[in-house]
Amino acid sequence: MGVSGPTETGADVVILAGGTGGAKLARGMVDVVGAARLAVIVNTGDDVEIYGAHVSPDPDLVSFWLADRIDERGWGVRGDTFEVMDALRALEVDVWFNLGDRDLAWCLERARMLAEGLSPTEALALLNSAIGQRTRVLPMSDDPVHTWVRTGTAGWSGFQEFMIRERAAGMVEDLEYRGAEEAAPTEDVLQAIAGARAIVIGPSNPLASIGPILALPGVHDALLNAAAPVVAVSPIVAGEVVKGPTKSFMAFAALDPNADGIADFYGELLAGIVADENVGRLPSLRIDTLMGDAAARARVAEQTLSFADGLRG
Ligand code: GDP
Repeated sequence: MGVSGPTETGADVVILAGGTGGAKLARGMVDVVGAARLAVIVNTGDDVEIYGAHVSPDPDLVSFWLADRIDERGWGVRGDTFEVMDALRALEVDVWFNLGDRDLAWCLERARMLAEGLSPTEALALLNSAIGQRTRVLPMSDDPVHTWVRTGTAGWSGFQEFMIRERAAGMVEDLEYRGAEEAAPTEDVLQAIAGARAIVIGPSNPLASIGPILALPGVHDALLNAAAPVVAVSPIVAGEVVKGPTKSFMAFAALDPNADGIADFYGELLAGIVADENVGRLPSLRIDTLMGDAAARARVAEQTLSFADGLRG
């Protein structure tokens, strides 16, 4: 592939991601630049503590994608069994959050490491290392941040309860990133941004997945001051979202449900945008952004990186 290998700056590619769109782009980017030259900064606003385990849905999805272990259902470990959940149900536990057995083991081991005093960043690095996954997956913060959503029907819910118990139904009427103002991005996150060759905001839900990262004090300025251009890949494909409630969140924020709306949301941060539609007001690359298979993931990653490299001043 044309853009593989380090540039003269020797810096890395950084992707900001939630769990699905950003994760797929990250997996494609590994094929383009290699595992060691990518760092993925991931939303932790969806984290939940349940069954004595610490679940970090977006960082775990990204890790499973990068390790080629993601299940076809779009979450969890491929081929996982659900014996523990079945056993809990038999004990009349309200199992609203489904976790496969291997997934649960991963999250129990994280909880044990956190209880021993390791940071979420250290714990995730050890878990990834144990499965031989070598790309840096960086939780956005080591401090707790919790995304809450208010709908007309259910009132306030934590993000996972909104997604699972309420099936993301109902109009989003309010959104809070609780704890974000008191939380800090990690040093790893700030260093990755400062040292990057290109920074890509993945095609993730801008409000629910990328918003919490941008809400951390210092991240917005770090992105503005980065030497690398920041480009976004639009999560809207052929006018629709591929998965999830991105459009209801964009409607709540009064954003058009298209690439212009994505550009509006990221505003001054963006040097350019990648989408399958025309975007007038900033440099844009119009390509098919659907990442349905490995070849498409690598193609979108390669075209996005070439575009970003071309924007470097
Ligand atoms: P979540 O945390 O699992 O909800 O995941 P994200 O926020 O990372 O991803 C959700 C977004 O990914 C949705 O808006 C989708 O439209 C987008 N998405 C999923 N697959 C693709 C794809 O192949 N291409 C693009 N451009 N966007 C995608």
